[in-house]
Amino acid sequence: MRKVKVGPEIWPLRAPFVIARGGRSEAGVVVVELEEEGVTGVGEATPYARYGETAASVQAQIAALAGELEQGMTREALQQALPAGAARNAIDSALWDLETRRLNSDLWRINNILRPDVIEMAQTISIDSPEVMASGALALWQNGARLLKVKMDNTLITERLVAIRTAVPKATLIVDANESWHSEGLAARCQLLADLGVAMLEQPLPAAEDALLANFIHPLPICADESCHTRESLPQLVGRYEMVNIKLDKTGGLTEALALAAAAKEAGLEVMLGCMLCTSRAIRAALPLVDKARFVDLDGPTWLAQDVAAGLPFRCGKILLSEGSA
Ligand SMILES: [Mg+2]
Repeated sequence: MRKVKVGPEIWPLRAPFVIARGGRSEAGVVVVELEEEGVTGVGEATPYARYGETAASVQAQIAALAGELEQGMTREALQQALPAGAARNAIDSALWDLETRRLNSDLWRINNILRPDVIEMAQTISIDSPEVMASGALALWQNGARLLKVKMDNTLITERLVAIRTAVPKATLIVDANESWHSEGLAARCQLLADLGVAMLEQPLPAAEDALLANFIHPLPICADESCHTRESLPQLVGRYEMVNIKLDKTGGLTEALALAAAAKEAGLEVMLGCMLCTSRAIRAALPLVDKARFVDLDGPTWLAQDVAAGLPFRCGKILLSEGSA
């Protein structure tokens, strides 16, 4: 019989993380441990208020399945037992971890994916004054980051982006508005982004307003984040977006995320791989998706004052897998 443990953890950030919806000073995660015959699998998820989740609600969802998990519930059964979201992700990740440890394998081998030595990833610039964002961008560039993800709200768009582009003329920039823009004026903003060489715009409009993107001609790719959770999201996204941001906390784990990545490509959508504020445990669970993504945005743990003891080998703008075990 399996032993099941679930509990919340708070991880303080090294600096405030500010997006259009507000600021955060800590990452609150929920951790699931499944022990079977002396082997323990661990899974972590980040409850997200935007999707109606709290640490308490996610723990309650997990606790309700404790009996079935103790009796050996499989990943396949889990997909039917819980809706997509953080609770299912924490359990799905723990089941993958348990499976790989019991087989003395890892997520790469078990999914038949060649482990890269280096993963190039975005570093995020959180919302601040144009000057602070520009100097932050320059510092990241000088430390080796080549892909920068710029958080944006509905103000100072030109000022912030011109300052950043001037500071890092050669960086690849992606902009994430986190649903804070309006359809009015969107065309002019997209043109500004294109003129500044921005490579992609993430979720400009509220998810409920996706229909406004149909027949909206835009000069740079637009990526669905808040609008894309699982394969069920895809029919509403085709013709409105060119890319989807896949996060395990939205798909409810790697099992659905792998299926979503394949279905998105089949539907002609490009893939971005993202994360919430989290520790390396949550990033490790998502790594089999990196070879499917045009943009990898897994810098959550780099915002923590301190990561888990067995953290991934993060460098500025990359994960150097050749220098650690993953
Ligand atoms: Mg986003």
